[in-house]
Amino acid sequence: MTAQVPANSAPTKKYTLHFGRKAKLFLGYVCLMVLPFLATYALDMQEKNTYAAFVSLFNTLAMMMFFIQFPLGSRLKSIPLFANIDWNMSHHKKVGQWLGVIFLLHPLLILMPKFAMSQTDGMRAIMEVIRAPQMLTGIIAWVGMIVWILMSIFKDRLPMKYETWRFTHMLGFVAIAILATLHVTTVGQHGQFGGWYNEIWWGLCSFSVLMVLFNYFVKPQIMKSNPFKLTSVQQVSSSDWEVTMDAGAGSDFDFEPGQFVWFNTATSGGVKEHPFSIASSRSSLPNVSFLIRNLGDYTSKLGELKVGQDVFVDGPYGSINLSDTKKSKGVVLIAGGAGIGPMLSLLRGLADSNEQRPVRLIYGNNRADQMVLQDEMKALESSMANFKQQLVCMEGCEGAYTGVIDQAIIKEVMSDENLKDWTVYLCGPKPMIAAVNKSLKALKVPRRNVHFEQLSF
Ligand SMILES: Cc1cc2nc3c(=O)[nH]c(=O)nc-3n(C[C@H](O)[C@H](O)[C@H](O)COP(=O)(O)OP(=O)(O)OC[C@H]3O[C@@H](n4cnc5c(N)ncnc54)[C@H](O)[C@@H]3O)c2cc1C
Repeated sequence: MTAQVPANSAPTKKYTLHFGRKAKLFLGYVCLMVLPFLATYALDMQEKNTYAAFVSLFNTLAMMMFFIQFPLGSRLKSIPLFANIDWNMSHHKKVGQWLGVIFLLHPLLILMPKFAMSQTDGMRAIMEVIRAPQMLTGIIAWVGMIVWILMSIFKDRLPMKYETWRFTHMLGFVAIAILATLHVTTVGQHGQFGGWYNEIWWGLCSFSVLMVLFNYFVKPQIMKSNPFKLTSVQQVSSSDWEVTMDAGAGSDFDFEPGQFVWFNTATSGGVKEHPFSIASSRSSLPNVSFLIRNLGDYTSKLGELKVGQDVFVDGPYGSINLSDTKKSKGVVLIAGGAGIGPMLSLLRGLADSNEQRPVRLIYGNNRADQMVLQDEMKALESSMANFKQQLVCMEGCEGAYTGVIDQAIIKEVMSDENLKDWTVYLCGPKPMIAAVNKSLKALKVPRRNVHFEQLSF
């Protein structure tokens, strides 16, 4: 996937999960999931009794679920089934946790009939499994899977950098995919049939490994062939930077307000990329700007970047889109901290299109000195037909609500309006998104009218 959108294509399609699309996606995933199990029937390999058939279905579905994790974790926006990157990332995580439980159950389900006979038979079967040399690949894959899933669940608490975790995550699951495929194709009832059935699993395994190799080694090279140039880095609040880059005069890079990219400022490319939402609107192209909060080892060093240096950009991605507002009577933008970037992009997009409907921005931060670009906000309040900003902060906030963005504040800002006819966009850290979503639910705002981006996967 390159950093550029083909010249003749529209900006990235919107993949709102309304019913029709949701149903199609569901059908697509179900078809993919049951393929290997159906193959057992096509190849006349079906099990003899109901329990064995159940275990076989369980195992083949679990393996398919595992292989689908690879495209979910990649950025395959050209394949419709995997095009909604935000949805993919959140489901990659959820499905991963379920896989942990399912793979934990895998040996138990197989050994259960032995334990049903007697505890001695059960224990003997366990010892046979442990001692059998051909079981080694399966045992390593099983232990590896559990450990790697636990490492993913607790990644924020591990004493390692995100980039190190990500590389370990990738390498570990490639090894587990190969070991698990060896296990499936060499032991168990299905493995003994060989032939086409084993080729299906090796095909899926090779495809998954190739996808990882493409993402880590080929894609960075493609991105390097089309670099953006850094044009400015400015501190715009006590904790935020505005980073601007130029896609180049002849560039066909395009995006929808609200979308994000991964960018990499390291000359070596590779895994040192970070996701950031675009804060500018399309009228600024070929310049693209970002509002970035100093939150860690990379974002604290943005001031060291050199104007004129190359930046490698992969994107745009993300399904937030202004066309979601088509039928609404007004637009509410709710930003928490670093979430102001995509909200500002939407606001600037609305200003560019001379929006006549009411637009409200509720912008929250811990401290007043973290509010960015207040001169521009005030100018937009004067120039736009009906735009108002409401600041919310915990301390030192003159003319702002004191506290966090909660139900009371949203209700007060929207006092005369019927929120259920409005579109709400929301961006911020995960706990803030959860709290505001709860408030919106209590205010009876329909879920379909709320579009959010949380600043972590
Ligand atoms: C879709 C999306 C859009 C985002 N948009 C913005 C934005 O507009 N402005 C902004 O300030 N921040 C944004 N972020 C958050 C930003 O990506 C992280 O704050 C940044 O990557 C932290 O890097 P660090 O090394 O400084 O901090 P660290 O201390 O290394 O990491 C802090 C946390 O950020 C996450 N993180 C770190 N590196 C990465 C990475 N390479 N990829 C994914 N997550 C990572 C991890 O969960 C980590 O716990 C966005 C995140 C996502 C997922």
